[in-house]
This record gives sequence, C-alpha cells and structure tokens, in this order.
Amino acid sequence: MGNLTNGGDSVKRVRFHRGYVMAGLVACALYLALPSSHASRALFLVVAVTTPLVSAVALIGQRSPERFGWWLLTAGFGVAAVGEIIDYFFVTLAWSPGLEPEINVIFLAAYIVELWGLMSVFHARSESSRQLGWFDAVVVGIGVFTIVWSTMYEAIFGTGRASPLDLLTRFGGAVLDVALVVTALRLVIGRRGRRTGAGLLLGAFVLQMTGDDIAALWNGYRPGEWVDTLWALSYVLVAGAVTHPGRDAERRAAPTRAAHREIRDTLVMQACVMGVLAVMVVVQIGSSVPAVTLAVWGVAWLALLIVTRMRVYGLLKLVEQASATESERRLTAMVASSDDVIGLADPDGTISYLSPSIERLTGVPASEWIGQRFDIALARHVTGLDDFLARSAHQAAGQQATWECTTHPHADGVARTMQLTLANELETPEVNGWVITAHDVTDQARLTSELRHQSLHDMLTGLPNRGLLFDRIQHSLDRMSRAPDARIAVVLVDIDDFKAVNDSLGHTTGDELLRAVADRLKSAVRQGDTVARLGGDEFALLLEDTDEHDAMILANRALESLALPVHIATGDFAVRASAGVVCHGGGSDPVELLRSADIAMYASKRDGKSKVTLFQEHMHMAAREQLELRMDLSTALERDEFVLVYQPILDTHTQRICGVEALLRWHHPQRGMVSPADFIPIAEQSGHIRSIGAWVLEAACIEAATWSGGTSAPYISVNVSAPQLTDPQFVSIVLGVLERTQLPPRRLLLEITESMLIDDSDHASAVLARLRELGIRIAIDDFGTGYSSLSYLRQLSVDVVKIDQSFVRDLGSNADHQALTRTILALADGLDMTAIAEGVETDREYAELSRLGCSYAQGFLFSRPVSPDALHHLFEDQVRSVDDREWSPLPG
Ligand code: C2E
Ligand code: MG
Ligand code: MG
Repeated sequence: MGNLTNGGDSVKRVRFHRGYVMAGLVACALYLALPSSHASRALFLVVAVTTPLVSAVALIGQRSPERFGWWLLTAGFGVAAVGEIIDYFFVTLAWSPGLEPEINVIFLAAYIVELWGLMSVFHARSESSRQLGWFDAVVVGIGVFTIVWSTMYEAIFGTGRASPLDLLTRFGGAVLDVALVVTALRLVIGRRGRRTGAGLLLGAFVLQMTGDDIAALWNGYRPGEWVDTLWALSYVLVAGAVTHPGRDAERRAAPTRAAHREIRDTLVMQACVMGVLAVMVVVQIGSSVPAVTLAVWGVAWLALLIVTRMRVYGLLKLVEQASATESERRLTAMVASSDDVIGLADPDGTISYLSPSIERLTGVPASEWIGQRFDIALARHVTGLDDFLARSAHQAAGQQATWECTTHPHADGVARTMQLTLANELETPEVNGWVITAHDVTDQARLTSELRHQSLHDMLTGLPNRGLLFDRIQHSLDRMSRAPDARIAVVLVDIDDFKAVNDSLGHTTGDELLRAVADRLKSAVRQGDTVARLGGDEFALLLEDTDEHDAMILANRALESLALPVHIATGDFAVRASAGVVCHGGGSDPVELLRSADIAMYASKRDGKSKVTLFQEHMHMAAREQLELRMDLSTALERDEFVLVYQPILDTHTQRICGVEALLRWHHPQRGMVSPADFIPIAEQSGHIRSIGAWVLEAACIEAATWSGGTSAPYISVNVSAPQLTDPQFVSIVLGVLERTQLPPRRLLLEITESMLIDDSDHASAVLARLRELGIRIAIDDFGTGYSSLSYLRQLSVDVVKIDQSFVRDLGSNADHQALTRTILALADGLDMTAIAEGVETDREYAELSRLGCSYAQGFLFSRPVSPDALHHLFEDQVRSVDDREWSPLPG
C-alpha cells in the first residue's frame, strides 16, 4: 500500500483511490451476477469489511481539520462491518431470524456514528458557528422526521405487530437514512470542497437509504437479494469518498463571502426541505390522513418557519461581524505591509503602537519603541526634531505638523531622510492621543539635492556655475553692507587661445585641460574663496575679505600656477591665461562686478595676453564706447560711412610702386575718423566683418581695375580677417569680385595673419590652396609677432611675407631683431617667397633694410595711405619722373 500520509504523494493517492473503486465495482458486479449463496454473501462481507479498513489506511497520518469527521465516518462503517460479520455468522450461516432486530441495533449505532462523522466534516468546513450548524440539524431533523413519519407511519405503526426494538430500529433507521442523505446533500450544496468527494458520499447514502427503505417496505425481502448490491455499492462509494484525494475542503474563503454563502446554502436547503414537505402535503391531500400526522405537519411547518427566521437572523449578524473583522484585518494587514510608518501615542507621548516598517526607517524594531516617549525616543535617532516637537506641542486638536528629518546612519552606514507627521487627535474618542506617521523620502531627498547640485554646478569641472557664483557674490555683498570697510574681489580668468587648443588637440583634451585648470585654480585660492566656471574657457574667483593689492597678488599667483606644465594625456601643457580683477565694497551688484572684471580681463587680452589687469573706472568708459561702436558698426555700411585709402608698396631697386595696400577708414558721423585698429576687432567679434570685408574687396578691386598698365599694373593688397576666411562662401565671393571687376587674379594679393592659419589650420589651408590655384597670391601680414617659429614658415604655402613694423622700427638698435629680419629675408629667399618690410619711416631704416637685401618696402617714408585721387597723382608723378622705364611688378 505504501505510505499515503505524505501530502505530496498525491499520485499514489489517486492510484490507490482508483484501484480501490475499480476493485469494489467489480466485486459489486460479481455479487449481482452470482446466485445467492454463502459464497456470494461472503463476497458481500468482504466488501463491507474492506470499507473501514481501506478508509483507515487512507486516513492514517493525515492532518486536515476535517480528519476527525472522516475518522468517525470510518468508525461508523467499522461498526457496520461488525454488524455484517455478526449477521453473516449468526443469520446467514446459522439462520436464526430472531436475532435480526438486535443486529439492527448495531446498524442503528453505526448510522449514528456515521451521521456524527458527516456532521463533523460539515462543521469543520463550515465557517459559521457551531450553533448555527445546529439550526441546520434542527431543520433537517424536522423535515426528516415529518417525511419518515408520513411515509412509514402505516408500515410501522399500522400493523401494530412490531416489537418496540423493531419499531425503534426501523423508525430510527429510516430517520437516520434521510438525515445522512440530507447532510451529504448539504456538503454537496456547500461547494466548499471539491464536489467529487461529497458527491460520492451523497451517492452512497442515497443507495443506502433506498436499500433500507426497499428492505423495510418489501415484506418478501431476504438477505442475498439484488437489493444487497445497493448496500455493497454504498460501501464502495463511501470508501471511495474517504480515499478520494480531493476529499478535503479547499482554502477558506474570506469571512464575509463565506457568510453570504452560508445564507444562500441554508436557504436552498431549507427551501428543499419545505418544498418536499409541501409536495407531500399536496400529494396526500384528499386521502385520509391521520389526525396525528396532520398535527405533525402543522408543527413541522411552524417550527421550520421559526427556525428559518432565527437562522437567517443569526447569519445576518454573522455577516455583519465578519465584515467588521475583515475590514479590521484588512486594515491591520495594510498598515503592517505599508512602507510608511503609522503609530499611535498616548496623550503623554508614550508610544502604544508602531507599524513594523519603523525598523527599516530607523534600524530599531517596533517592539523596542513601544512604551517609550516618542519625543525622547525619536530625538535619539533623528536630527532636527526638537524644533518640530516644539511647534507640534502647541498645535490645536485636529491639527497636524509635518517635518523632514534625517536619521543617524544605520548599521549599513546609510542615513535615511523621513517626513514625519504628528497629528493631534487628543479629542478624537477612538484615538485620544497622537497619530504619528513617517514616510521615507530618502530617495526623493537625494534626487532633489542632486538636481539642486546639478543646477548650481558645472558638469565638467564640478565647480559652482554662474548662478551659484552670483548667489555667493550677492551673499558676500549683503554681508558687507553690515561691515563698510570689508572688501571682496572678483577675478575673471580666461584661457588664452583656448579655441586653438581645442581645435588642434580635440575636445577630449580640451575638457581634460579645463579640469586641470579648475584644480589648479582651486589650489591657488584660500579656503573660503570660490572658484567658479562661467562657461567655455572662462573661470571666476570670488575672494572674500581682501583688498586690491592682495587680490592682484592672488590673481597673479593663480596665472603662475596655470603656467606650470599640466600633465594631460597628450603630454605636458602650459596654460596661458589673462585675468581681470575688480575689488569692491558694498553697494554693488554681482552683474556689475562681473562686467567690470570682464572689462579688465579684456584689457589684459588687448595688452598682449597672459597678464592680470586691475579694473579702473575709466575702463568702463572705454567698454561703453566699444559697445556703442559695435552698435554703430551695424549700420555703417548702409550709411556709406566706409572709405578706402591706399598705401603704395615700393620696389626698392627701381624706386617704383609695385603694389598698393587697401586700408579701411570709417568716417563716424560723431567721432570723425575711427582707426581700423579700434573697430576691426569689434567687427570681427560681432561678425560684421564679413559684409564689411566683402565691400572692401569689391571696392579695392574696382579701384585697382582703373589703374593703367594692363597685367603689369600695380597689384592690390587686401586685408582679410579670420571670420572671412572661415566663411564657406569666401572663395566664391572672391571669384565673383574678380569676375565683375575683370581684375586678373595675379593682381590680387590677400593678406592674412599667422594666427588665422593656426586657429583653423586645416580649413584655412584648404581655402588658401584653392585661392592660389586660381592665381591669387597670399601674404602673411605682420610676420614675426604671432606664434609660429621661423621654421614654421616652411610649412606655410604663401607667396609673400610682410615683416612687421616692430622689427623694422629698431633695426639699427636691436641686434636680435636685426638677426631675425636677416633670417626671415634669407628664409624667404630660399623658399621663393617675397619679403616686404612694413612701416618704414626713416632713411636709416630704409638704408638698413637695403643693406640686409630687402627688395620691397612700405611705409610713411614713401607715402602715407592716401585717397584714390592722391594715389593717381602718385602714379602720374612716377610716370613723369621716370617716363622711359617700365613699372616693376613683384616677381613670382
Ligand atoms: P596692416 O595690414 O599691417 O596695415 C598697415 C598699417 O600700418 C596701416 O595702419 C598703416 O597705416 C600703417 N602704416 C603704414 N606705414 C606706416 C609707418 O611708416 N609708420 C606707422 N606707424 N604705421 C604705418 P592702419 O591703416 O591703421 O591699419 C591698421 C590695421 O588694420 C591693418 O594693419 C590691418 O591689420 C587692419 N586693416 C586695415 N584695413 C583693413 C581692412 O580693410 N580689412 C581688415 N580685415 N583689416 C584691415
Ligand atoms: Mg595689411
Ligand atoms: Mg601689417
């Protein structure tokens, strides 16, 4: 048989159940087929005895709540089996019919035990109280009694021959039969278990009742008749039910649902019983019904109505109770499983309840909190509580206060932020105390502070950004309004030529460099000072409690620290930067301070970079002027305020004009003549230089086209700014001008500066190469003042080198400059380039240049920049003075 106690061994249980039922059915069929004999009776006995045995085996070791009922049922069939054995030996074998009523007493006892068992199973399943279960029993009892009374009255009492024992067993048996059927029916209706098990039981007891009734009403019955098969089948079905794997009820339903089911089941069952009674009354109406039976009917009906009313009333109460318990349980479960902490405290603050989640929040289990005063206990775990409690203490009944506080770090080292709410419910009768709720807001708090940090800091360097710097400056200024002598300084630091670094070394290196600059600046300032990044390559320092002198020292120190080689991935790099310093007391505002520092910083840049300038009031004026110029520039072209002047370039061998440089002049309506040195940088910054430059190119070429001499007429030299060269349209603009003016490309020379080649080398080189392909020549203007070493000249694909006037100026006195000029001249010669000396003012300079072998020169010594008309006069004078010689164009 194996061990059937193991709940997990359900396959074995199914096999055992099926095997038994099959064998039992075969035995029943065999019994029906066999003629009545001792052997067939023995087969019947085997079936009867097997039933309790098989059931017991299936029940051994089972732990279900229904097991007591099932064991009783099995015991009932055990008693029945004893009855069958006695019956077999005394009646079948010895045939002593006198013993039948006594044996029936055993069966009666068996039925009682079976009924007890069945009711126990029902009770174990029923969610209603035991008392309510008895109502069912009473209903069933009334019904059964009435039915049996009505049907068996004649058979039992009518003859008047039956002995009291016989009466008892027959009437009792009939009553118990019906009771068993109804109880089994109740199990089936109840639907709380799987129905197969209960269904088998119902089948068994219906068969048993049918067999009993047939035997009781059929006078000719003898053991061994076919009727016995009904009992045999009923035995098999009972054991089948007990061995059935789905015999026990499933998980219990929620109390309210169960109570509703109870009501429905009860009403269905009582309706069945009353319906049967009604049918019976209707059927028997007209026939002679004994008065006592009529009385039984009346009493039964009345009793049923009363019981039904009581039962329904009881069940409704049950529903009410169940729903109350259920919502309480639901609430408790919700509170317990909630992440939020919910707690209660007595009026004096003693904690009486705290939900379990308090442990997650504070690291201390709820049990340790209970009984403590929450103000004292919480203060030990949370910071910032005192203020909150002080506020909460004064709040009126029904009000609540909320506070955000942080716990001390837990064992894992993490501190939690919580939102604590304290509600005064002293006047709410159900509470009469304080309601504490705590909500874990650690993640939100962290996110908020991260977002705040992000909004106030620069992502790349982690330094405070412009917004935070403004805030800090404002804060310092506010503080200074209370201390009139105090001073703060703002230093603006801008890396020199950062764009060139970024473009040539790449953005990753540029970023690395900016981070290194940030670190250097941080270590250069004092504690309490602020280093901020304003964007791009612009940084700012806020120096607290300082004066102009100290601020200048600190700013210089900061630039020096930057100049020390920075180690980045691509190698060591020395950062050059320009700085502007502004020092101020109260009565200013951050925007103004930063603007002043910016003006001072620009002064540093204009002054040749890599230096610190202290802001002075007059700079403001200059800056304002610049701003005004910038505004006026935007309309200068439309208003026709620009003119070109022309300065000749001389071939020193022939003393003739070989070329002319076009130089821009701005006739400002208010300021008069503005120097290009003042407005070209502004136009470059604002981008106006593109349209202005295009106009210059066109006007200069138109002018040059008027000069006589055909292809050997003097060339025209036009200055080009960086933004023009980076303009993708530049080549087509130049071509358009040449086409319109019909000027041969050879007669156009474009002057660019070294820095333009370095700043955007690839693109610039490509544009220049394209222009040179077209026959236009290129000159490097102001050569020697820029960055490139002399050897760099080899890499430049240009035609002309214009030696800057600063070299020419002190040729006689500065040996270095002299050596440099000589080298440039030699290099240019070797590279097949033409060298032109700029800014020649004196005969001495000219003589020195001639001695060094410079063939071309430009300067006031020969002519200042002049108007087109004056230039024509110069040409004419030249023709007159040496009319027999040809003009000498530049070689190449
Ligand atoms: P640059 O291209 O180097 O032009 C030569 C400058 O030196 C001119 O100044 C000229 O007047 C001046 N100069 C010539 N000979 C002498 C001399 O013997 N002594 C002294 N002290 N100066 C002399 P200017 O016209 O004021 O132009 C200044 C700069 O403005 C130019 O330097 C050029 O870089 C820029 N510029 C002028 N016109 C234009 C233009 O149309 N476009 C662009 N992009 N820049 C221009
Ligand atoms: Mg020039
Ligand atoms: Mg120049």
